[in-house]
Amino acid sequence: MAHVLDADLRRALADRLRFYNELGIYDFYRHDPLVAASAAKAMVAPEHDTDSAALQPEMRDIMASRKSAAVAVVAEENIFEVLPPKPEQGISDPVAALKLIREDLGDCTRCKLHKQGRKQIVFGVGNPRAELMFVGEGPGADEDAQGEPFVGRAGQLLNNMIKAMGLRREDVYIANVVKCRPPGNRTPERDECETCSPFLMRQIAVIKPKVVVALGAVSAKNLLAINAPMSELRGRFYDFTPSGLRSADSSWQGAKLAVTYHPAFLLRDPRQKGEAWKDLQMVMKYLGLEPPKKAAE
Ligand code: SF4
Repeated sequence: MAHVLDADLRRALADRLRFYNELGIYDFYRHDPLVAASAAKAMVAPEHDTDSAALQPEMRDIMASRKSAAVAVVAEENIFEVLPPKPEQGISDPVAALKLIREDLGDCTRCKLHKQGRKQIVFGVGNPRAELMFVGEGPGADEDAQGEPFVGRAGQLLNNMIKAMGLRREDVYIANVVKCRPPGNRTPERDECETCSPFLMRQIAVIKPKVVVALGAVSAKNLLAINAPMSELRGRFYDFTPSGLRSADSSWQGAKLAVTYHPAFLLRDPRQKGEAWKDLQMVMKYLGLEPPKKAAE
């Protein structure tokens, strides 16, 4: 008897597949356990050649129902349809490519943050060819009002950090995991990050930085898909490529990613500034940056 998924489960599965499409993952392979079992059976020695299906009838029922469920999903949702390539793909000019991503984002209503008091979408700012990119968590009140990331007190501290590295704010690119202000500056929720971050990934693939600095645990966990405390995340480089995406430039194999404290946290606990400076010095060494003379004295 055909097993049909209930509507909620079907929608959830369709949403998940669309999310993978947003990440640039289009190819899905259905693992057919019956075929795999029969292949495995053909490979085992005769003395171990038992009829696994006969031994595990419950497993056979589960396999059959999963198979028919997958067929039902395909028929009703057409979820395996391959989405067209992203508009910026094949565009080598990062300015034009970022513009296309912004247009694709539009007046976004993809997650619930669009109806929780945001004034505007905060897309990102800075040098579209930056070697160094900073990624925070989400816009706060000042950023929401001005439409630019890191413009409040935390932004001023980030500016100082950038200056101490011998750079100007306009040399780097700054963005957030979510582009709309979470109400009351709460931490963005998992579904909001999952919905919004594919646009950040596309921005990173277009900018092709040498180093991405994740500001704070929320940013680090979303970029790296690692759930670990800051004490474990900091102090090393990670190899990073935007999930499921390839850059238009085949010479760009991804960035190094470093994790440091969010400037808002450093405002609350200035004793950690020395630790953050160690993280930035690691990045400077990799990029061959010298601190300006004044900061070095
Ligand atoms: S946070 Fe991102 S996904 Fe959510 S509404 Fe804003 S732009 Fe869209």
